[in-house]
Amino acid sequence: MQELTHYLNGAHVKGTSGRFADVMNPATGEVQAKCPLASKEELEQAVAFAAAAQPAWAATNPQRRARVLMKLVSLLNRDMDKLAEALSREHGKTLPDAAGDVQRGLEVVEYCIGAPELLKGEYTDSAGPGIDMYSMRQALGVTAGITPFNFPAMIPMWMFAPAIACGNAFILKPSERDPSVPLMLAELAEEAGLPKGILQVVNGDKEAVDAILYNDTIQSVGFVGSTPIAEYIYGTGCAQGKRVQCFGGAKNHMIIMPDADMAQAADALIGAGYGAAGERCMAISVAVPVGDETADKLIKELVPRIESLKVGPYTSGKDVDYGPVVTAAAKANIERLVQTGIDQGAELVVDGRDFKLQGYEDGYFVGPHLFDRATKDMDIYKHEIFGPVLTCVRAQSYEEAIGLAMDHEYGNGTAIFTRDGDAARDFANRINVGMVGINVPIPVPLAYHTFGGWKKSVFGDLNQHGPDAFKFYTRTKTVTARWPSGIKEGGEFSIPVME
Ligand code: NAD
Repeated sequence: MQELTHYLNGAHVKGTSGRFADVMNPATGEVQAKCPLASKEELEQAVAFAAAAQPAWAATNPQRRARVLMKLVSLLNRDMDKLAEALSREHGKTLPDAAGDVQRGLEVVEYCIGAPELLKGEYTDSAGPGIDMYSMRQALGVTAGITPFNFPAMIPMWMFAPAIACGNAFILKPSERDPSVPLMLAELAEEAGLPKGILQVVNGDKEAVDAILYNDTIQSVGFVGSTPIAEYIYGTGCAQGKRVQCFGGAKNHMIIMPDADMAQAADALIGAGYGAAGERCMAISVAVPVGDETADKLIKELVPRIESLKVGPYTSGKDVDYGPVVTAAAKANIERLVQTGIDQGAELVVDGRDFKLQGYEDGYFVGPHLFDRATKDMDIYKHEIFGPVLTCVRAQSYEEAIGLAMDHEYGNGTAIFTRDGDAARDFANRINVGMVGINVPIPVPLAYHTFGGWKKSVFGDLNQHGPDAFKFYTRTKTVTARWPSGIKEGGEFSIPVME
């Protein structure tokens, strides 16, 4: 049995708390490793290393810091297959999808190579007689991030790349379900030339998270995960005076207008609804066809596609569309919600409940499900299922469809499929959701834009990656400078105003 470690001050360090979490192989249901769960003392040790290393890193000029990231990009490309394999082994997603997970993180590392440009301050010459004014963006110090199981490469990189590019030290507390890739990323960053202590990995659960939240040296906390934990971390972290950004759960609606190309819309829904077994915060989990005729056509297109989905372990290679869900508990929760859908009267058009895979009977595989004629009051509509379950809610008009998405408590992503530019434009303008796709089912913005939802999908103001990340990981300091003569002429006792 492999015993995983923390990564502290440039070395793999065994856990000392005596507490461990099982890291499962979701395809077989077997325990494949033990993940140490850090105590408060172990977290504090990481903070001490980070605090000692950070000033010199912040004083390293931004171009040199960027060169470390350049090198990291090439190492990530070199090790892409190795990272993807380690990721699939613990998460269960297919190899191409795992490589995509690494790639979407790598793209943020590439963006952060622009740190010298992005960190340039502002300057006003002669803001007043003999007065210059300038603003600088300075590193926060020691920062921390807590990440979910579903993107164990991408989301850590979305946090640590801008954090270290800005001159901070970063402590990552990844998900205890799939901690191996985060450990590999920390090793690669050091191989790229990052000084020891600037990127550390502390594995753990709530105990480590609370140690982060109540630590006075840690200046900021980034979190991605489920909404109840996001709310807890935001409230607690803010009350401790930290800068906090938390990204939570989702229930993403895709509206299908009567003029949409139904085959295209169905293809899009298959990937967006069932890819990664539905375990994506940008998955489409609700399809809203407008009009019964549209709904009937859509269901007709969807059913054969869903029935031909190939579900299996990542080791079966490209023949698999999606893998198992992450844990037995996740599988049980999906099954429970599916049962509520049946009990509450939704029509189960594709029933994946009997799905079994020979040789993998103990794995956490869930067959694909499709519900039709679901309504707003049903649990399958209200809650995030985070599994391969697509729920169709029929709307009788565009207004009813947009109203559904707007009334839902989550506001991460959404999409509209139509050939009508006017409807698409109206949708993009009015919808109260952070990321919008027009004939694009999973509108995850690229690295140089920012990523973030609205409503209960986010707590905090600034988004992830793009220019917002450089704001989140720096503080602004504004200097007003006056040289020689003024002060010699005596003090001024009223607030200066421009005449
Ligand atoms: P989770 O909330 O269970 O765990 C996320 C992190 O919080 C993990 O590191 C975990 O160890 C820690 N944690 C868990 N329970 C805790 C507690 N009681 N106190 C303190 N820390 C705790 O989420 P998950 O199951 O790993 O990830 C899936 C969720 O993440 C889904 O809801 C999904 O929508 C969401 N997600 C959101 C985004 C986004 O950008 N909005 C992206 C990816 C995933």
